[in-house]
This record gives sequence, structure tokens and C-alpha cells, in this order.
Amino acid sequence: MKTKIFDVKDLNKHNIEQSAVYDDAEANEKVEAALEKIDEAAQIIIDGGLVAFPTETVYGLGANALVPEAVAKIFSAKGRPADNPLIVHIARASNIGELTPALTPEIIRVIDNFWPGPLTIVLQKKASVPDITTGGLKTVAIRMPDDPAALELIKKAGCPVAAPSANVSGRPSPTKGEHVIEDMDGKIDAILIGNDCRIGIESTVLDLTGDIPTILRPGIITAENIEAAIGKKVEMDPTLNHRKNSFSDSEDEKNLAPKSPGMKYKHYAPKAEMIIIEGQRDKVKSEIERLKALNEKLGLKVGIILFEEKAFIEAAHEFFARLRDLDDEGVNLILAGALSESDGVGFAVMNRMLKSAGYHIAKV
Ligand code: AMP
Ligand code: MG
Repeated sequence: MKTKIFDVKDLNKHNIEQSAVYDDAEANEKVEAALEKIDEAAQIIIDGGLVAFPTETVYGLGANALVPEAVAKIFSAKGRPADNPLIVHIARASNIGELTPALTPEIIRVIDNFWPGPLTIVLQKKASVPDITTGGLKTVAIRMPDDPAALELIKKAGCPVAAPSANVSGRPSPTKGEHVIEDMDGKIDAILIGNDCRIGIESTVLDLTGDIPTILRPGIITAENIEAAIGKKVEMDPTLNHRKNSFSDSEDEKNLAPKSPGMKYKHYAPKAEMIIIEGQRDKVKSEIERLKALNEKLGLKVGIILFEEKAFIEAAHEFFARLRDLDDEGVNLILAGALSESDGVGFAVMNRMLKSAGYHIAKV
């Protein structure tokens, strides 16, 4: 399949609605050209095809969420297990009624506070949402992304757009257009290339189907942020604190089966072996140096991921891109310094780091 590559970077710099009134004719032309590309991409979605597009979190791989044949193409392009449900993206909060039967005041408050933005909410699904989209669950995950190209694409497609991250299943999520080309060129109909993703890790997933709002996947929007908005305690899914892969046949593990099926699969894995070094900062640094020297003596190529101690936002922004860069450099071993998990964003980045390393941790 020939994949069309559409540059829509100019949309990020301009307010689409106001583009017609800009004095700068050249800027207007660029915006108009990008909007035409979006028209073409939206038509692909309408026709049942696949389009990758930028969002503020990571790039998404989109199809019409209500058409099972279209959604099936996402699973095969990514090599994604069929029981791993997709997030459905909408461009107007008012479109949520197509997907879920009832909105409580609490749900409305969450939406008012965090949309558009990096928060996905899990709600009861309407029968019109196909089983393939939700991996057979009776619930549906919904988000309104905060990116002009994404919003314009979804509006023009005129349907909710199911979109997991636009990587081959198991690989680090794509945060730059080139990552999507690397994984999806030749497998999908089109790729919209925007600017690099502002946030760099996937959305927080918040389950609002029970009495207690529960975070199933940590992200930039933390439990404290949500508690402040709704005035109610938010819990973390217990499996998030597990220091090993929660996909296991043992009875104990089955009892703690994750509510979010995607959490159990191998994720974000670089080609290299990866070890997280955890402990007091100075010790972590010297252990990384020691292991690096040792492994290099054995002829291995070693890469290091060590973020500034409290630079959690930067770590989120850089982490997936660093993994891909180190793979491109052909390193055999990645040594990464652990981040503090007492910070909500640090916890979210560590969640990805632990999976990337297959929960391989060395304490010092
Ligand atoms: P990705 O699309 O790669 O960002 O992954 C989507 C994440 O959302 C996965 O971890 C899924 O398990 C989770 N998710 C999607 N739909 C649901 C749902 N209905 N209930 C719980 N988790 C969901
Ligand atoms: Mg993903």
C-alpha cells in the first residue's frame, strides 16, 4: 500500500477559525493548504481507511470507531491483540452522547475541567459502539484531544475516531512524525505530520463507571489534579503499583487482573536490553558508570537515559524518543536512572519506563 504523507505543521501555529482574517497572505495560504490535506485525510476515514495523526500526547492511528471493518484494520496494521480496547476520539464534547447512554454531573465536571486534553474517561458504552472497538468490553474509553489537526480531522470525518498509539504493537509510542513513518509507512492510507507531540506520553485513563473514580493508566493529569476538580477521592488501580508484568497465570495475579486490558501486554520495548537503576541519586550515577564501563569492556554498546532529578515534564516529553534514538544508534544495553514516583508525573513516566525494561530493576 502506498501511504500518503501530508504535512500539516502549519495548523499548529494558527487558529483555524481565524485563519481567514490574518493579514499575512502567505500564512493564510499555508493554513489553507494544510486544511485541504485534512479534507483528503477525513475522506479516507469516511471511506473506511486508516489515517495516523498528531495529538498533544502521542501520534494516533485512526479509523471510524463505529465501523467494525475499519477498526479491524487498526488491529492488523499495529499487530495489536484483539482484547486490547481502543480509545475513541471526539472533537466536540457534545458528541459524547453517541457513545455512552448517560452523563452524571461528575462526568460533566471532569469533561469541563480537562477537555480538550490528555485525559481519557471510561464510561458505559452504547450498543452502537462495536465490540471490536472496545475489545469486547461493555465500557468505552473516550477522549477529546487538544491538537488542531486532530480536532479538524475528526470534525471533518464526522464520526468518532478510534485511535490507539500509531506504533507497531510493543514498540515505543511515536512522538514525532518520523516515528510514525518508521512503523506505519506502507501499512496505512495516510499519515498527517504535525509538530512533535507536546506531552510525549499517553493520556491518563480514568474509569468513571464505578462509585470511586479510578486511574487505570497514569499520565500528565494526576489523581491530585482530578481530585481538585471533582472534590472527591480518586484511586489508583492496584496493578499500577506492581513491579512485574501483571500478565501471569498464577491465581494471585488473576485476582488482580487489570481492568484496562492493555496494561498486561509487553509495551514500549526498545530493541536493546534495558535495566533501571534505582536508589539514591549519586549511587545511581556511579552504578550506571560502573555498569557502562563493564559492559563496554565486553564489547557491548551502552546507552544511558538519565533525566534531571525533578524534570518530570521533560522526561515525559523525551522518554519514548530517547528509546527510539538509542535503537537507531544500535545500542545493546540501555541503563536508565529511576525517577521519583512520589511525584504524579514521575509516577506516570516510571510506569512506561518499567514496562520498557520488562520490570528489570537493579537497586543500589
Ligand atoms: P493506546 O490506545 O495504545 O493508548 O491504549 C489504550 C489504553 O486504554 C489501553 O491501556 C487500554 O487498555 C485502555 N482502554 C481502552 N478502552 C478501555 C476500556 N473500555 N476500559 C478500560 N481500559 C480501556
Ligand atoms: Mg499504545
